[in-house]
Amino acid sequence: MSTTYKIAVFPGDGIGKEIVPQAVRVMKEVGNKYNIGVDLEEALVGGSAIDEYGIPLPEKSLQLALNSEAVLLGAVGGPKWEGLDYSIRPERALLGLREKLGLFANLRPARLFSALVDASTLKREVIEGIDIVVIRELTGGIYFGKPRGIEKADGQERGINTEVYTTYEIERIARLAFNVARGRSKKLCSVDKANVLESSELWRRVVNTVHKDYQDIELSHMYVDNCSMQLIRNPKQFDVILTNNMFGDILSDEAAMLTGSIGMLPSASLGGEVGMYEPIHGSAPDIAGQNKANPIATILSVGMMFKYSFGMEIVFTDIDAAVNKVLNKGYRTADIYSAGNKLVGTKEMTDLILDELI
Ligand code: NAD
Repeated sequence: MSTTYKIAVFPGDGIGKEIVPQAVRVMKEVGNKYNIGVDLEEALVGGSAIDEYGIPLPEKSLQLALNSEAVLLGAVGGPKWEGLDYSIRPERALLGLREKLGLFANLRPARLFSALVDASTLKREVIEGIDIVVIRELTGGIYFGKPRGIEKADGQERGINTEVYTTYEIERIARLAFNVARGRSKKLCSVDKANVLESSELWRRVVNTVHKDYQDIELSHMYVDNCSMQLIRNPKQFDVILTNNMFGDILSDEAAMLTGSIGMLPSASLGGEVGMYEPIHGSAPDIAGQNKANPIATILSVGMMFKYSFGMEIVFTDIDAAVNKVLNKGYRTADIYSAGNKLVGTKEMTDLILDELI
């Protein structure tokens, strides 16, 4: 009897509604190919959930996620919901899912497909062959720390946020990062601001302590300002980067741009029983509904799901190879297009990837 995986599917808003159905086609295809059952159930999150139920993460959607083995998410948000209070904005759905699913680690690979070497703004010799994973702590730090808010003081207003990490939070993300590094080139660079921030001083101390259990991994530390510079100067020096929530938010976008387009980059959020997989980009309202969105980031996210949630690295490699072949044949969506290539839409790009998967 074949295994069946239950997967929650949240298209979300904007181009999420176009790219997720394409990624679902890929999921069904690999299911057939490898004789794995994929039991897919769709629900609303983000702006579309606000329109239907008045809140970005309805209980029904949350329960579906909690009762699944993995979640595939498109993107949430858009101009329609921008005037709403922060507490009910579409993006709250992401924070709610991360919190309730216990997803404390976000993995963002920044890898350059060789066919796209000229799509980057950086020189070929700097970026050719880069393959970096940024591991960002996702549920702690300044985005969640208290006290927070805007208060009146001495006739002025004062905005407050708090950067806070406990030993436990640092230890669990460090272990996860050392394990990921162990499956790659055994090099881990932990990024902090320990010369200025006490929370970073603790971060560095705990990472060093955890390192004692991972003596086979080469550990280095780097200040975040230097890391942002080194990523542009010589990105090939990095393999796995471990960092906190805010530094990771910024550095992972920077690393992403080394590879050309935001439309190419998948991500995995891990830590609890249920992993969540999504492209790193947003809902791209400027191109939504036009069959222009690049579906590759979402399709590669399906690959990450099979690798990290179902332990099937073979599916990850297969999807990756199919994408590589299509790019090598010169097919491009508009975001990665350059003269001399063949321009295709969202659906056609997926058709081509499916042809290579069979
Ligand atoms: P965005 O990532 O949606 O778009 C930035 C630019 O990249 C746009 O020009 C867009 O057309 C392009 N782009 C993005 N994905 C693409 C793809 N797959 N193919 C081709 N081009 C693509 O960021 P933004 O414009 O700052 O945000 C739009 C909305 O998305 C906002 O409401 C924002 O809050 C939300 N957002 C959501 C997430 C998420 O759901 N995880 C992440 C980022 C932004």
